[in-house]
Amino acid sequence: MKVLIVGGGPSGTSLGLWLLKNGIKPILFEKKTFPKDKLCGGLITPRGRKELNLLNISYKHLAFEPPNINISDGGSLNLSFKNDMGIELIKRQQFDKLLVDEYVQRGGTLKENHEIKDINTEKKYITSAQGEKYFYDILVIAEGAGGRLRKKLQEPKLQNALCLEYKNRDEIPSRDKKSINVYFLDDKPGYAWRFDNSDETVLGIGSLLNYTELKNKFNNIFGEVHKLKGAYVPYGLQPRQSSIKDIYFVGDAGGYVNSLLGEGISYGIASGRALADIIVNNNNSLDCVLRENLSFYLSLRNLFFSKTLSKLNIKLLKKYQELAIFICKEFILRSDFTVFGYRKLLQYFWRYKIGQ
Ligand SMILES: Cc1cc2nc3c(=O)[nH]c(=O)nc-3n(C[C@H](O)[C@H](O)[C@H](O)COP(=O)(O)OP(=O)(O)OC[C@H]3O[C@@H](n4cnc5c(N)ncnc54)[C@H](O)[C@@H]3O)c2cc1C
Repeated sequence: MKVLIVGGGPSGTSLGLWLLKNGIKPILFEKKTFPKDKLCGGLITPRGRKELNLLNISYKHLAFEPPNINISDGGSLNLSFKNDMGIELIKRQQFDKLLVDEYVQRGGTLKENHEIKDINTEKKYITSAQGEKYFYDILVIAEGAGGRLRKKLQEPKLQNALCLEYKNRDEIPSRDKKSINVYFLDDKPGYAWRFDNSDETVLGIGSLLNYTELKNKFNNIFGEVHKLKGAYVPYGLQPRQSSIKDIYFVGDAGGYVNSLLGEGISYGIASGRALADIIVNNNNSLDCVLRENLSFYLSLRNLFFSKTLSKLNIKLLKKYQELAIFICKEFILRSDFTVFGYRKLLQYFWRYKIGQ
């Protein structure tokens, strides 16, 4: 079976690794050359760690665990707790290179500097910028958010949120003061972040606002900086597979991103695993679980940020801080992909009550 994967980010590479594990040798096309950069906070939850362990990827030498987590609404709400669940920060340039090196070492074919420009769905081939044709039995689009191929295939557009980011390498807090900081925006879904990695601090913001509105909010929270960079992340609509036979989407290209957190690394890797299961075993159960999980977090996001509820939510979070921290840790940051649905949420409340 000839499987071609377009895009060498975490989702395309993890799909490649899973196919190799199952005896299929895909070809992975990446338009850039490694090490390539990607605008990203680099936060890895325990969900991501589990996925990487399943793939036997040793990445710990690249990861840093800031000791503290702070969540605030930029005003009077301040939830602070220890990072005792192992939330990690990585740098994407190193991380993506590690994944792709593993893929090549395990026998995968990589074509760097190969941008795929066109797809012929009738004759089932793709064309690179160099004009080469590659025929496929299965084509996987892992081109990230807002890629061109999704548009070319005339698939429905996914809703994307704009993110702005800046890396500060001058003022680095001491080790014990390093934190993962999240600031909820008051009026729209989204948040700003300050992630203290080992030798740099990443300042960012993401929301459904336009560039000027977002930049103003960034400036209000962090102060003005030069060289603010922007990129999109899918933020809202559900993953949609291609309606064209033998073409699939993974990662950002398919909308596999947790809408509450904008977390796409672990979901991208998991969507690669789910698609490998579809291709190899014709089994879509993991994909269904992922979709339900995403849909649940989307409804939580809508609940949390709804105009009428958001003020009430903040009041409740302030009043029941311990419970709020418990939910953040267990339900939002630590839980795995199988956790979805309000019944599960009630189970968590129940466990919390017993714990008390
Ligand atoms: C500012 C920002 C901060 C973020 N922070 C976090 C975070 O802290 N934690 C987290 O989990 N997620 C975060 N995300 C989301 C996360 O970065 C993405 O969800 C993740 O990168 C998705 O992986 P992917 O492989 O699907 O796509 P990508 O990582 O975007 O990879 C797509 C690849 O395809 C290549 N490509 C595109 N078109 C073509 C083509 N035509 N031919 C060949 N190659 C092509 C691109 O060069 C790229 O290498 C953040 C996103 C943004 C924008």
